[in-house]
Amino acid sequence: MYKSDFPYFSNSDITYLDNGATTQKPQVVIDAITQFYTHYCSNTHRSSYGSANKATMEFENVRKQIQSFINASSLETIIFTKGVTESINFVADAFVKNEFDTVIISSLEHHSNIVPWHMQGRNLHNGLEVVNYDSNLEFDFVHFEQLLQKNPNSFVSITHVSNAFGKIQDIKKITKIAHKYGAVVMVDGAQSLVHFSVDVKDLDVDFYCISGHKTFGPTGIGAIYIKEEYLQKVKPYQTGGATIHEVTFEKSTLLDSPYKFEAGTQNIAGVIGFGAALSYIEDIGYEKLHNWEVELYEYLHEQLLNIEDIELYNDTTNAIGSKSFNIKGINHDDIGILLDKQKVAIRVGHHCAQPIMQALNIKGTIRASIALYNTKEDIDKFIKALNRAIGMLKD
Ligand code: PMP
Repeated sequence: MYKSDFPYFSNSDITYLDNGATTQKPQVVIDAITQFYTHYCSNTHRSSYGSANKATMEFENVRKQIQSFINASSLETIIFTKGVTESINFVADAFVKNEFDTVIISSLEHHSNIVPWHMQGRNLHNGLEVVNYDSNLEFDFVHFEQLLQKNPNSFVSITHVSNAFGKIQDIKKITKIAHKYGAVVMVDGAQSLVHFSVDVKDLDVDFYCISGHKTFGPTGIGAIYIKEEYLQKVKPYQTGGATIHEVTFEKSTLLDSPYKFEAGTQNIAGVIGFGAALSYIEDIGYEKLHNWEVELYEYLHEQLLNIEDIELYNDTTNAIGSKSFNIKGINHDDIGILLDKQKVAIRVGHHCAQPIMQALNIKGTIRASIALYNTKEDIDKFIKALNRAIGMLKD
């Protein structure tokens, strides 16, 4: 249905089910980037001739677009970054490091939301706490509240959707409880916007990280929403050109947000392409997109249940996009190789979430991750290829 919007699918006969890693890009995104480079390639916020003004205007329009897309209170709250990894590192370094005794994360975090805390010298029970999960990978709210009680000066950093298991965590409930204890909440939204709409005001998050390339946009672009009350408290992570009001050999004075946080020449083409990706989603509408994905996700789950010796780690409750599993007695890497030979692109391994794999006592999983353009035929092809691979490996 939507595949014709994405040139990758006319140039490739691959069944693409690796959307958790990155999504394909619609023609409108590629066109927007090409248009920038071929018609008005100039730096932003510097020169004042025609194409430079146009570049600045297009760039700032995307900030406006993101502001309204996630219902942020003002333009100042939207800061461009390279992606979620940079956003988390930025906040970790420029705000959390010297301010908070404890960082609380969930069990389902991506390494991007674990390693930066280790780099600060935090580890389990020494500045880092991990919320338990149940047998369906649900977030344990009782444990969360106990951790908040035990650690009065906490920063909570939580993924909205698990990249490995597709589990959606209840951010609204998390912020409500966290704020009751005076904690500040950051959300890793790398896997959310491509599947459902996000309203930062309704969720009442303090920081929300988004990723362009997981949302039909270009690689190397993302953004972070910072609630207004934190804009002065967060120190710029990098400084330099475009962040300053005035510089003498004596001192530098910085501009206000967002510019004080956006040092150097920005990924202008990336921002413009990201804007086109968000417009693409807007044109389709989240309701349509989400309903189709839910149907597809249920279908994928049902088809997997028919496979002998399948080991699943969660059902479809509060889950979207990614589906992880193993086949008893078979190494996930071998399945990856045999699916590749049959032109099915999935991911096998730990999915940058080694700690939860260790907790589940597995080395990794086979992960199929869907997006809007996937079809039931894609899933049928995947299941057929999977059965063939299992047959070969069990012989
Ligand atoms: N968090 C999650 C849950 C992810 O899936 C990813 C990407 N795999 C990241 C963070 C890192 O995002 P980015 O590629 O935008 O740095």
